[in-house]
Parts: sequence; C-alpha cells; structure tokens
Amino acid sequence: MVSLRFLGTGGARWVVAKQIRSSGGFWLRADGTNVHVDPGPGALVRALTQLPPCDPALLDAIVLSHKHLDHAGDVNAMIEAMCQGGWRPRGALCAPRDALDEAQQPVVLPYARRFVPREWIVEAHAGPFEIGAVELRASLRLEHPVEAYGLHFRTAAARVSYLPCTRYFDAIVDDYKQHAPDVLVMNILRYRDSMDVDHLTIDDARTLIDGIRPGVAIMSHFGTRMLERDPARLAYELEDATGVKTFAAYDGWVYDVA
Ligand SMILES: [Zn+2]
Ligand SMILES: [Zn+2]
Repeated sequence: MVSLRFLGTGGARWVVAKQIRSSGGFWLRADGTNVHVDPGPGALVRALTQLPPCDPALLDAIVLSHKHLDHAGDVNAMIEAMCQGGWRPRGALCAPRDALDEAQQPVVLPYARRFVPREWIVEAHAGPFEIGAVELRASLRLEHPVEAYGLHFRTAAARVSYLPCTRYFDAIVDDYKQHAPDVLVMNILRYRDSMDVDHLTIDDARTLIDGIRPGVAIMSHFGTRMLERDPARLAYELEDATGVKTFAAYDGWVYDVA
C-alpha cells in the first residue's frame, strides 16, 4: 500500500505567514516505510493532529527538496521527534548540501544533524538511496535561488515524482518523463506570472502534464492568487485540457496511490 498525506498545501510568504493553508509538506507511506518530505512551519503539530496521527517516531526519513523556510521550518523539530530527543537515533536525513553545510547558513542545526544515523546528500541525478520499501532518486538541479532538486520515489507498487519550487525549463519534462510517474506532485505556487520569479504557474502545470503524461497529477503549495481562483476548479480545467486526472491537494488530504 502506498499513500500520500498532505500535511500542508500552502506556499509563498504570505500564505505561510498567515497559515491560510498549512505548510507541513507531505508524508509518504509505503508498506510500513514512512517518509516526510519538506517539513515547513507547523509540520510537527500537523503530523500529530492528523487522525490517526502521523507518528514522527516511526519515520524512516526526512527529506528536504531545498532549504527555504516554507519547506524546512520544522526540520529540526521533526528530527528531534524522529530520534526522540536524540535518545533513539533513527532514520535518514536527505537534503541538499547547502541545507547542511555549516559555511552556508544551514537550516539543519549541527546538533540535530548528529542524531540521525544515515545522511544522504541530495544532488543532481543522485541515487538510488534506499529507505525501507522506498527507493529515492534526485532529479536534475532546478532553477531556484537555493539548491533545489526534484525527488523520484519508487516502490514495488508505484512511482511518485515530486516537483518542488522552480522556474519552468524544458529539461524538467525530459527528466520526469524518464521516471514515468504514476503520480506527479507539483508545487504550483503562482497563477500567472506577473513577476519574473523562480516558481511554477498554472500554464507551466499544463505544459508539464502534457509533456510528462503522468498517471495522475496533483497540484499543491498554493500562493494567494491560486487560492483566490479555487485550485479544485483549476485542476478540473487542467484535466479537461490534458486528459490526465488532476487533483488540487488540500490540508489533511490522503491520496491512496496503490
Ligand atoms: Zn523555495
Ligand atoms: Zn516553496
């Protein structure tokens, strides 16, 4: 059994600062293996208040796509919870080098980093890295102000690819197509690009779905403009245009992949 639980579906400073949507990232569960991806502000509280709770002491890995606050704000709290305050070292920490390196304003505090017995540096096309029933590979380097990578998860039953925050460029499609995802999770923060920023828009989402042709597409990590326009309706329009089943994630939503 493989499932995704969205502990947060908000992105961008304003949505996160006001917690209009939560910012806890998502939790991948596959045959007894638990992986938490992008634990932004509030992730620990969101995990513990799910019904049934997502128990951090059962985590096998914490993964960061990049070190921005909306993806990593709770990473130290989650590490402490996974390793029970350091008394029971457990699991793996997977993150880009600039999230760990003490010379580059790390977001993982050095003391917390020492609690985790396994560490995997996420870098372009790295992997496979084995986490229980899950194999993890990194995508090409994305275009974002800090080191950022997509993540390709593979289990015996399904392939799940995650495209975090980035500017759109054609090589993303080639990289993701090779991994033939059953489910593609995309961070569609912006509606249309009024400013020139390193984030995906609804138009990029359509290009990505058309190019990658995943089994199912899921949008998440919404900014204000996306929320104003009703992500569920936009997902329906995308599905109409591409023929690919498309969802807009919401806080607490569980998607059963396989
Ligand atoms: Zn970012
Ligand atoms: Zn983000």
